[in-house]
Amino acid sequence: MRLFFTCLVLVVLIAATNCRIRDCQGSGSNGLADEPSVKEVQNRLTIYVMGDVPYTPADDVLLPQQISELPHDAEFVVHVGDIKGGGSPCHEAVYVKVADMLSKAAAPVFIIPGDNEWNDCVDPDPIQAWSHWRKHFMRFDQRWQHHLHVFRQLEREENFSFAKNGVLFVGINIVGGRIHDAAEWKQRHGACLDWVRRNLSQFGDEASSLVIFGHAKPTAMHADFFDPLSVDAQKFGKPVLYLHGDGHRWIHDRPFAAKNILRVQVDQGGIAPPLKVTVTDHPTEPFVFDRRIAGSGQ
Ligand SMILES: [Zn+2]
Repeated sequence: MRLFFTCLVLVVLIAATNCRIRDCQGSGSNGLADEPSVKEVQNRLTIYVMGDVPYTPADDVLLPQQISELPHDAEFVVHVGDIKGGGSPCHEAVYVKVADMLSKAAAPVFIIPGDNEWNDCVDPDPIQAWSHWRKHFMRFDQRWQHHLHVFRQLEREENFSFAKNGVLFVGINIVGGRIHDAAEWKQRHGACLDWVRRNLSQFGDEASSLVIFGHAKPTAMHADFFDPLSVDAQKFGKPVLYLHGDGHRWIHDRPFAAKNILRVQVDQGGIAPPLKVTVTDHPTEPFVFDRRIAGSGQ
């Protein structure tokens, strides 16, 4: 009986997928394809998200393996920052090494800065570290031939955005670690907020949901970004996902005043392979996660 039910579900899913592709209204072969529950599981796209990797010599072996084993359904991949452990030097060789690893991916990779390779650097200082980051990671996705129409913020080129299959994606430079320069932090948070707002005003009406990639685990240090973002998210009224790294352990909750913002902190790359994120057509819970580790339950 259970096997029969599983098969039935599969048939319904396949029928629903075909209908989406062919736009074949009401033509479900078994008559079940038009049920609302089936429409809810239609997928818009699948992406993979990693962060906080590689940290150790073991990670240097693991990450290339994870890259080569990325499933073929990846529309694109995002590294949400921290390409090295916090204590090690920010020498250019590290940036070269990780850029080389990530560039082997079959799907385009987007990357945003983490504190470990920027504001927390002491050898060399953050200014020099940032020049390494710029040199090796700015417009990183352009290493692939892809058809995503990517926008970059004029004043902060590392901030990007694009819409794909009705989902608006925005990447921003928001980090944890130390406030190395209070004026820079304030200005950058303002620019990031402005970037999200400009994208929402341009694409928000058509978008079914918004996904924001950042590095930082939100704290009081980021209130000047997240408090106003929460107000904007409420106005947007549709599902928002804030995906970040920094804390190394899986978190899935709604910590903001706007309850339409879901926050996910990804597992550190050394713990789990890149997180599979599927964005569906579901009106309130469109984001489906697969941590791809045994017993993760998500
Ligand atoms: Zn970090």
